Amino acid sequence: MNHILQAFPHVGDKEQAALQACIQRSWLTEGPEAAKFKARLQDVTGSKYVELAPNGTLGLFLALLALDLPRGSEILIPGFTFMATASAAVFAGLKPVLVDVDLKTFSATPAAYEQAITSRTSAIMPVHIYGQAAYAREIAELARRHKLKMVEDAAQACGVHHAGQHAGTFGDIGVISFFADKSVTMGEGGALLIQDEALAERVALLRNQGRISSGSYVHSHLGMNFRVTDMQCAIGNVQLEGLPMIRADRLRRQALYREGLQGVCGIRFMETDPKSELLPFRFPILSEKRDALMLALEANNIQTRSLFYPLHRQPALANIVDPIELPVCDLLYKEGISLPIHQDVSEEDLHRIVRVIQAAS
Ligand SMILES: *Cc1c(COP(=O)(O)O)cnc(C)c1O
Repeated sequence: MNHILQAFPHVGDKEQAALQACIQRSWLTEGPEAAKFKARLQDVTGSKYVELAPNGTLGLFLALLALDLPRGSEILIPGFTFMATASAAVFAGLKPVLVDVDLKTFSATPAAYEQAITSRTSAIMPVHIYGQAAYAREIAELARRHKLKMVEDAAQACGVHHAGQHAGTFGDIGVISFFADKSVTMGEGGALLIQDEALAERVALLRNQGRISSGSYVHSHLGMNFRVTDMQCAIGNVQLEGLPMIRADRLRRQALYREGLQGVCGIRFMETDPKSELLPFRFPILSEKRDALMLALEANNIQTRSLFYPLHRQPALANIVDPIELPVCDLLYKEGISLPIHQDVSEEDLHRIVRVIQAAS
């Protein structure tokens, strides 16, 4: 019985050849592959400007630094997300204010954000979770109406559109991650999608020691080093070329899961906002028998994960966020199981997962 992993990077000969070409060229930091990767990302996302970052977390941090939000002001973020959404805000000098999510889409609705706006709010940071971009346009409209900045955590949403527009291009800056477990990966890596020229220039300065091009020792601004390597970008370029296949593969697995688990006692699915595409990142399910199901899956050599531990319960945020009740975030943690949907889960594997769940439900 093979071990089915929760996530697995789908890389092969093409990535290897692209890496080898980098070594032969001896250009290791950002070079031709990075330029190509930025151009490809502009094509894929329709974003006016793209700047790279070492990973999604630092990308979010860089985005918030570039927006220069008032120190101590409040940024609205969903309570159901990866910790990095909150830590980027804290390190950028902001106070995260948590918002509960909708049980259907696992995403916070515009109405939920609106209720949390106060005179101290400076920004909204929606998270496009599990491969959909729920309510992206409506949240952008809300931000505009209240004159708030919007940074989209589109870490999981490369290739995902909402009403025909790519995730991460609705707000001031959107950030994609290319971590090893994301649908499109370069091991580590991130990209900022930016629509305003002056803002893009500020990001470019901040990420490269406060100068536009290297080689000069004159620095007009203060900046840091958020650069990546050409080797990462070489892998990213191959992956982006394969995006249509990645999408088709994951959607096929999604359909098989839904078919196999539809009507199985007590199993509920995440629903997709009808205006959003879905490029499945994982296949999350909810069940009151979460613990028993996870044990059964693990016993059958299937690696499972819970869904996110809610941010309002994170020990590291205890003295930072205000106490708040987020019942849906709690429920998603209590009942949620994340099932693997990557390209190395074969149809046979997938049927095995479905059978184990059917038997244990
Ligand atoms: C992966 C992820 C991040 C962080 O990206 P890294 O590249 O791993 O730093 C942030 N937010 C969400 C929602 C993510 O899934």
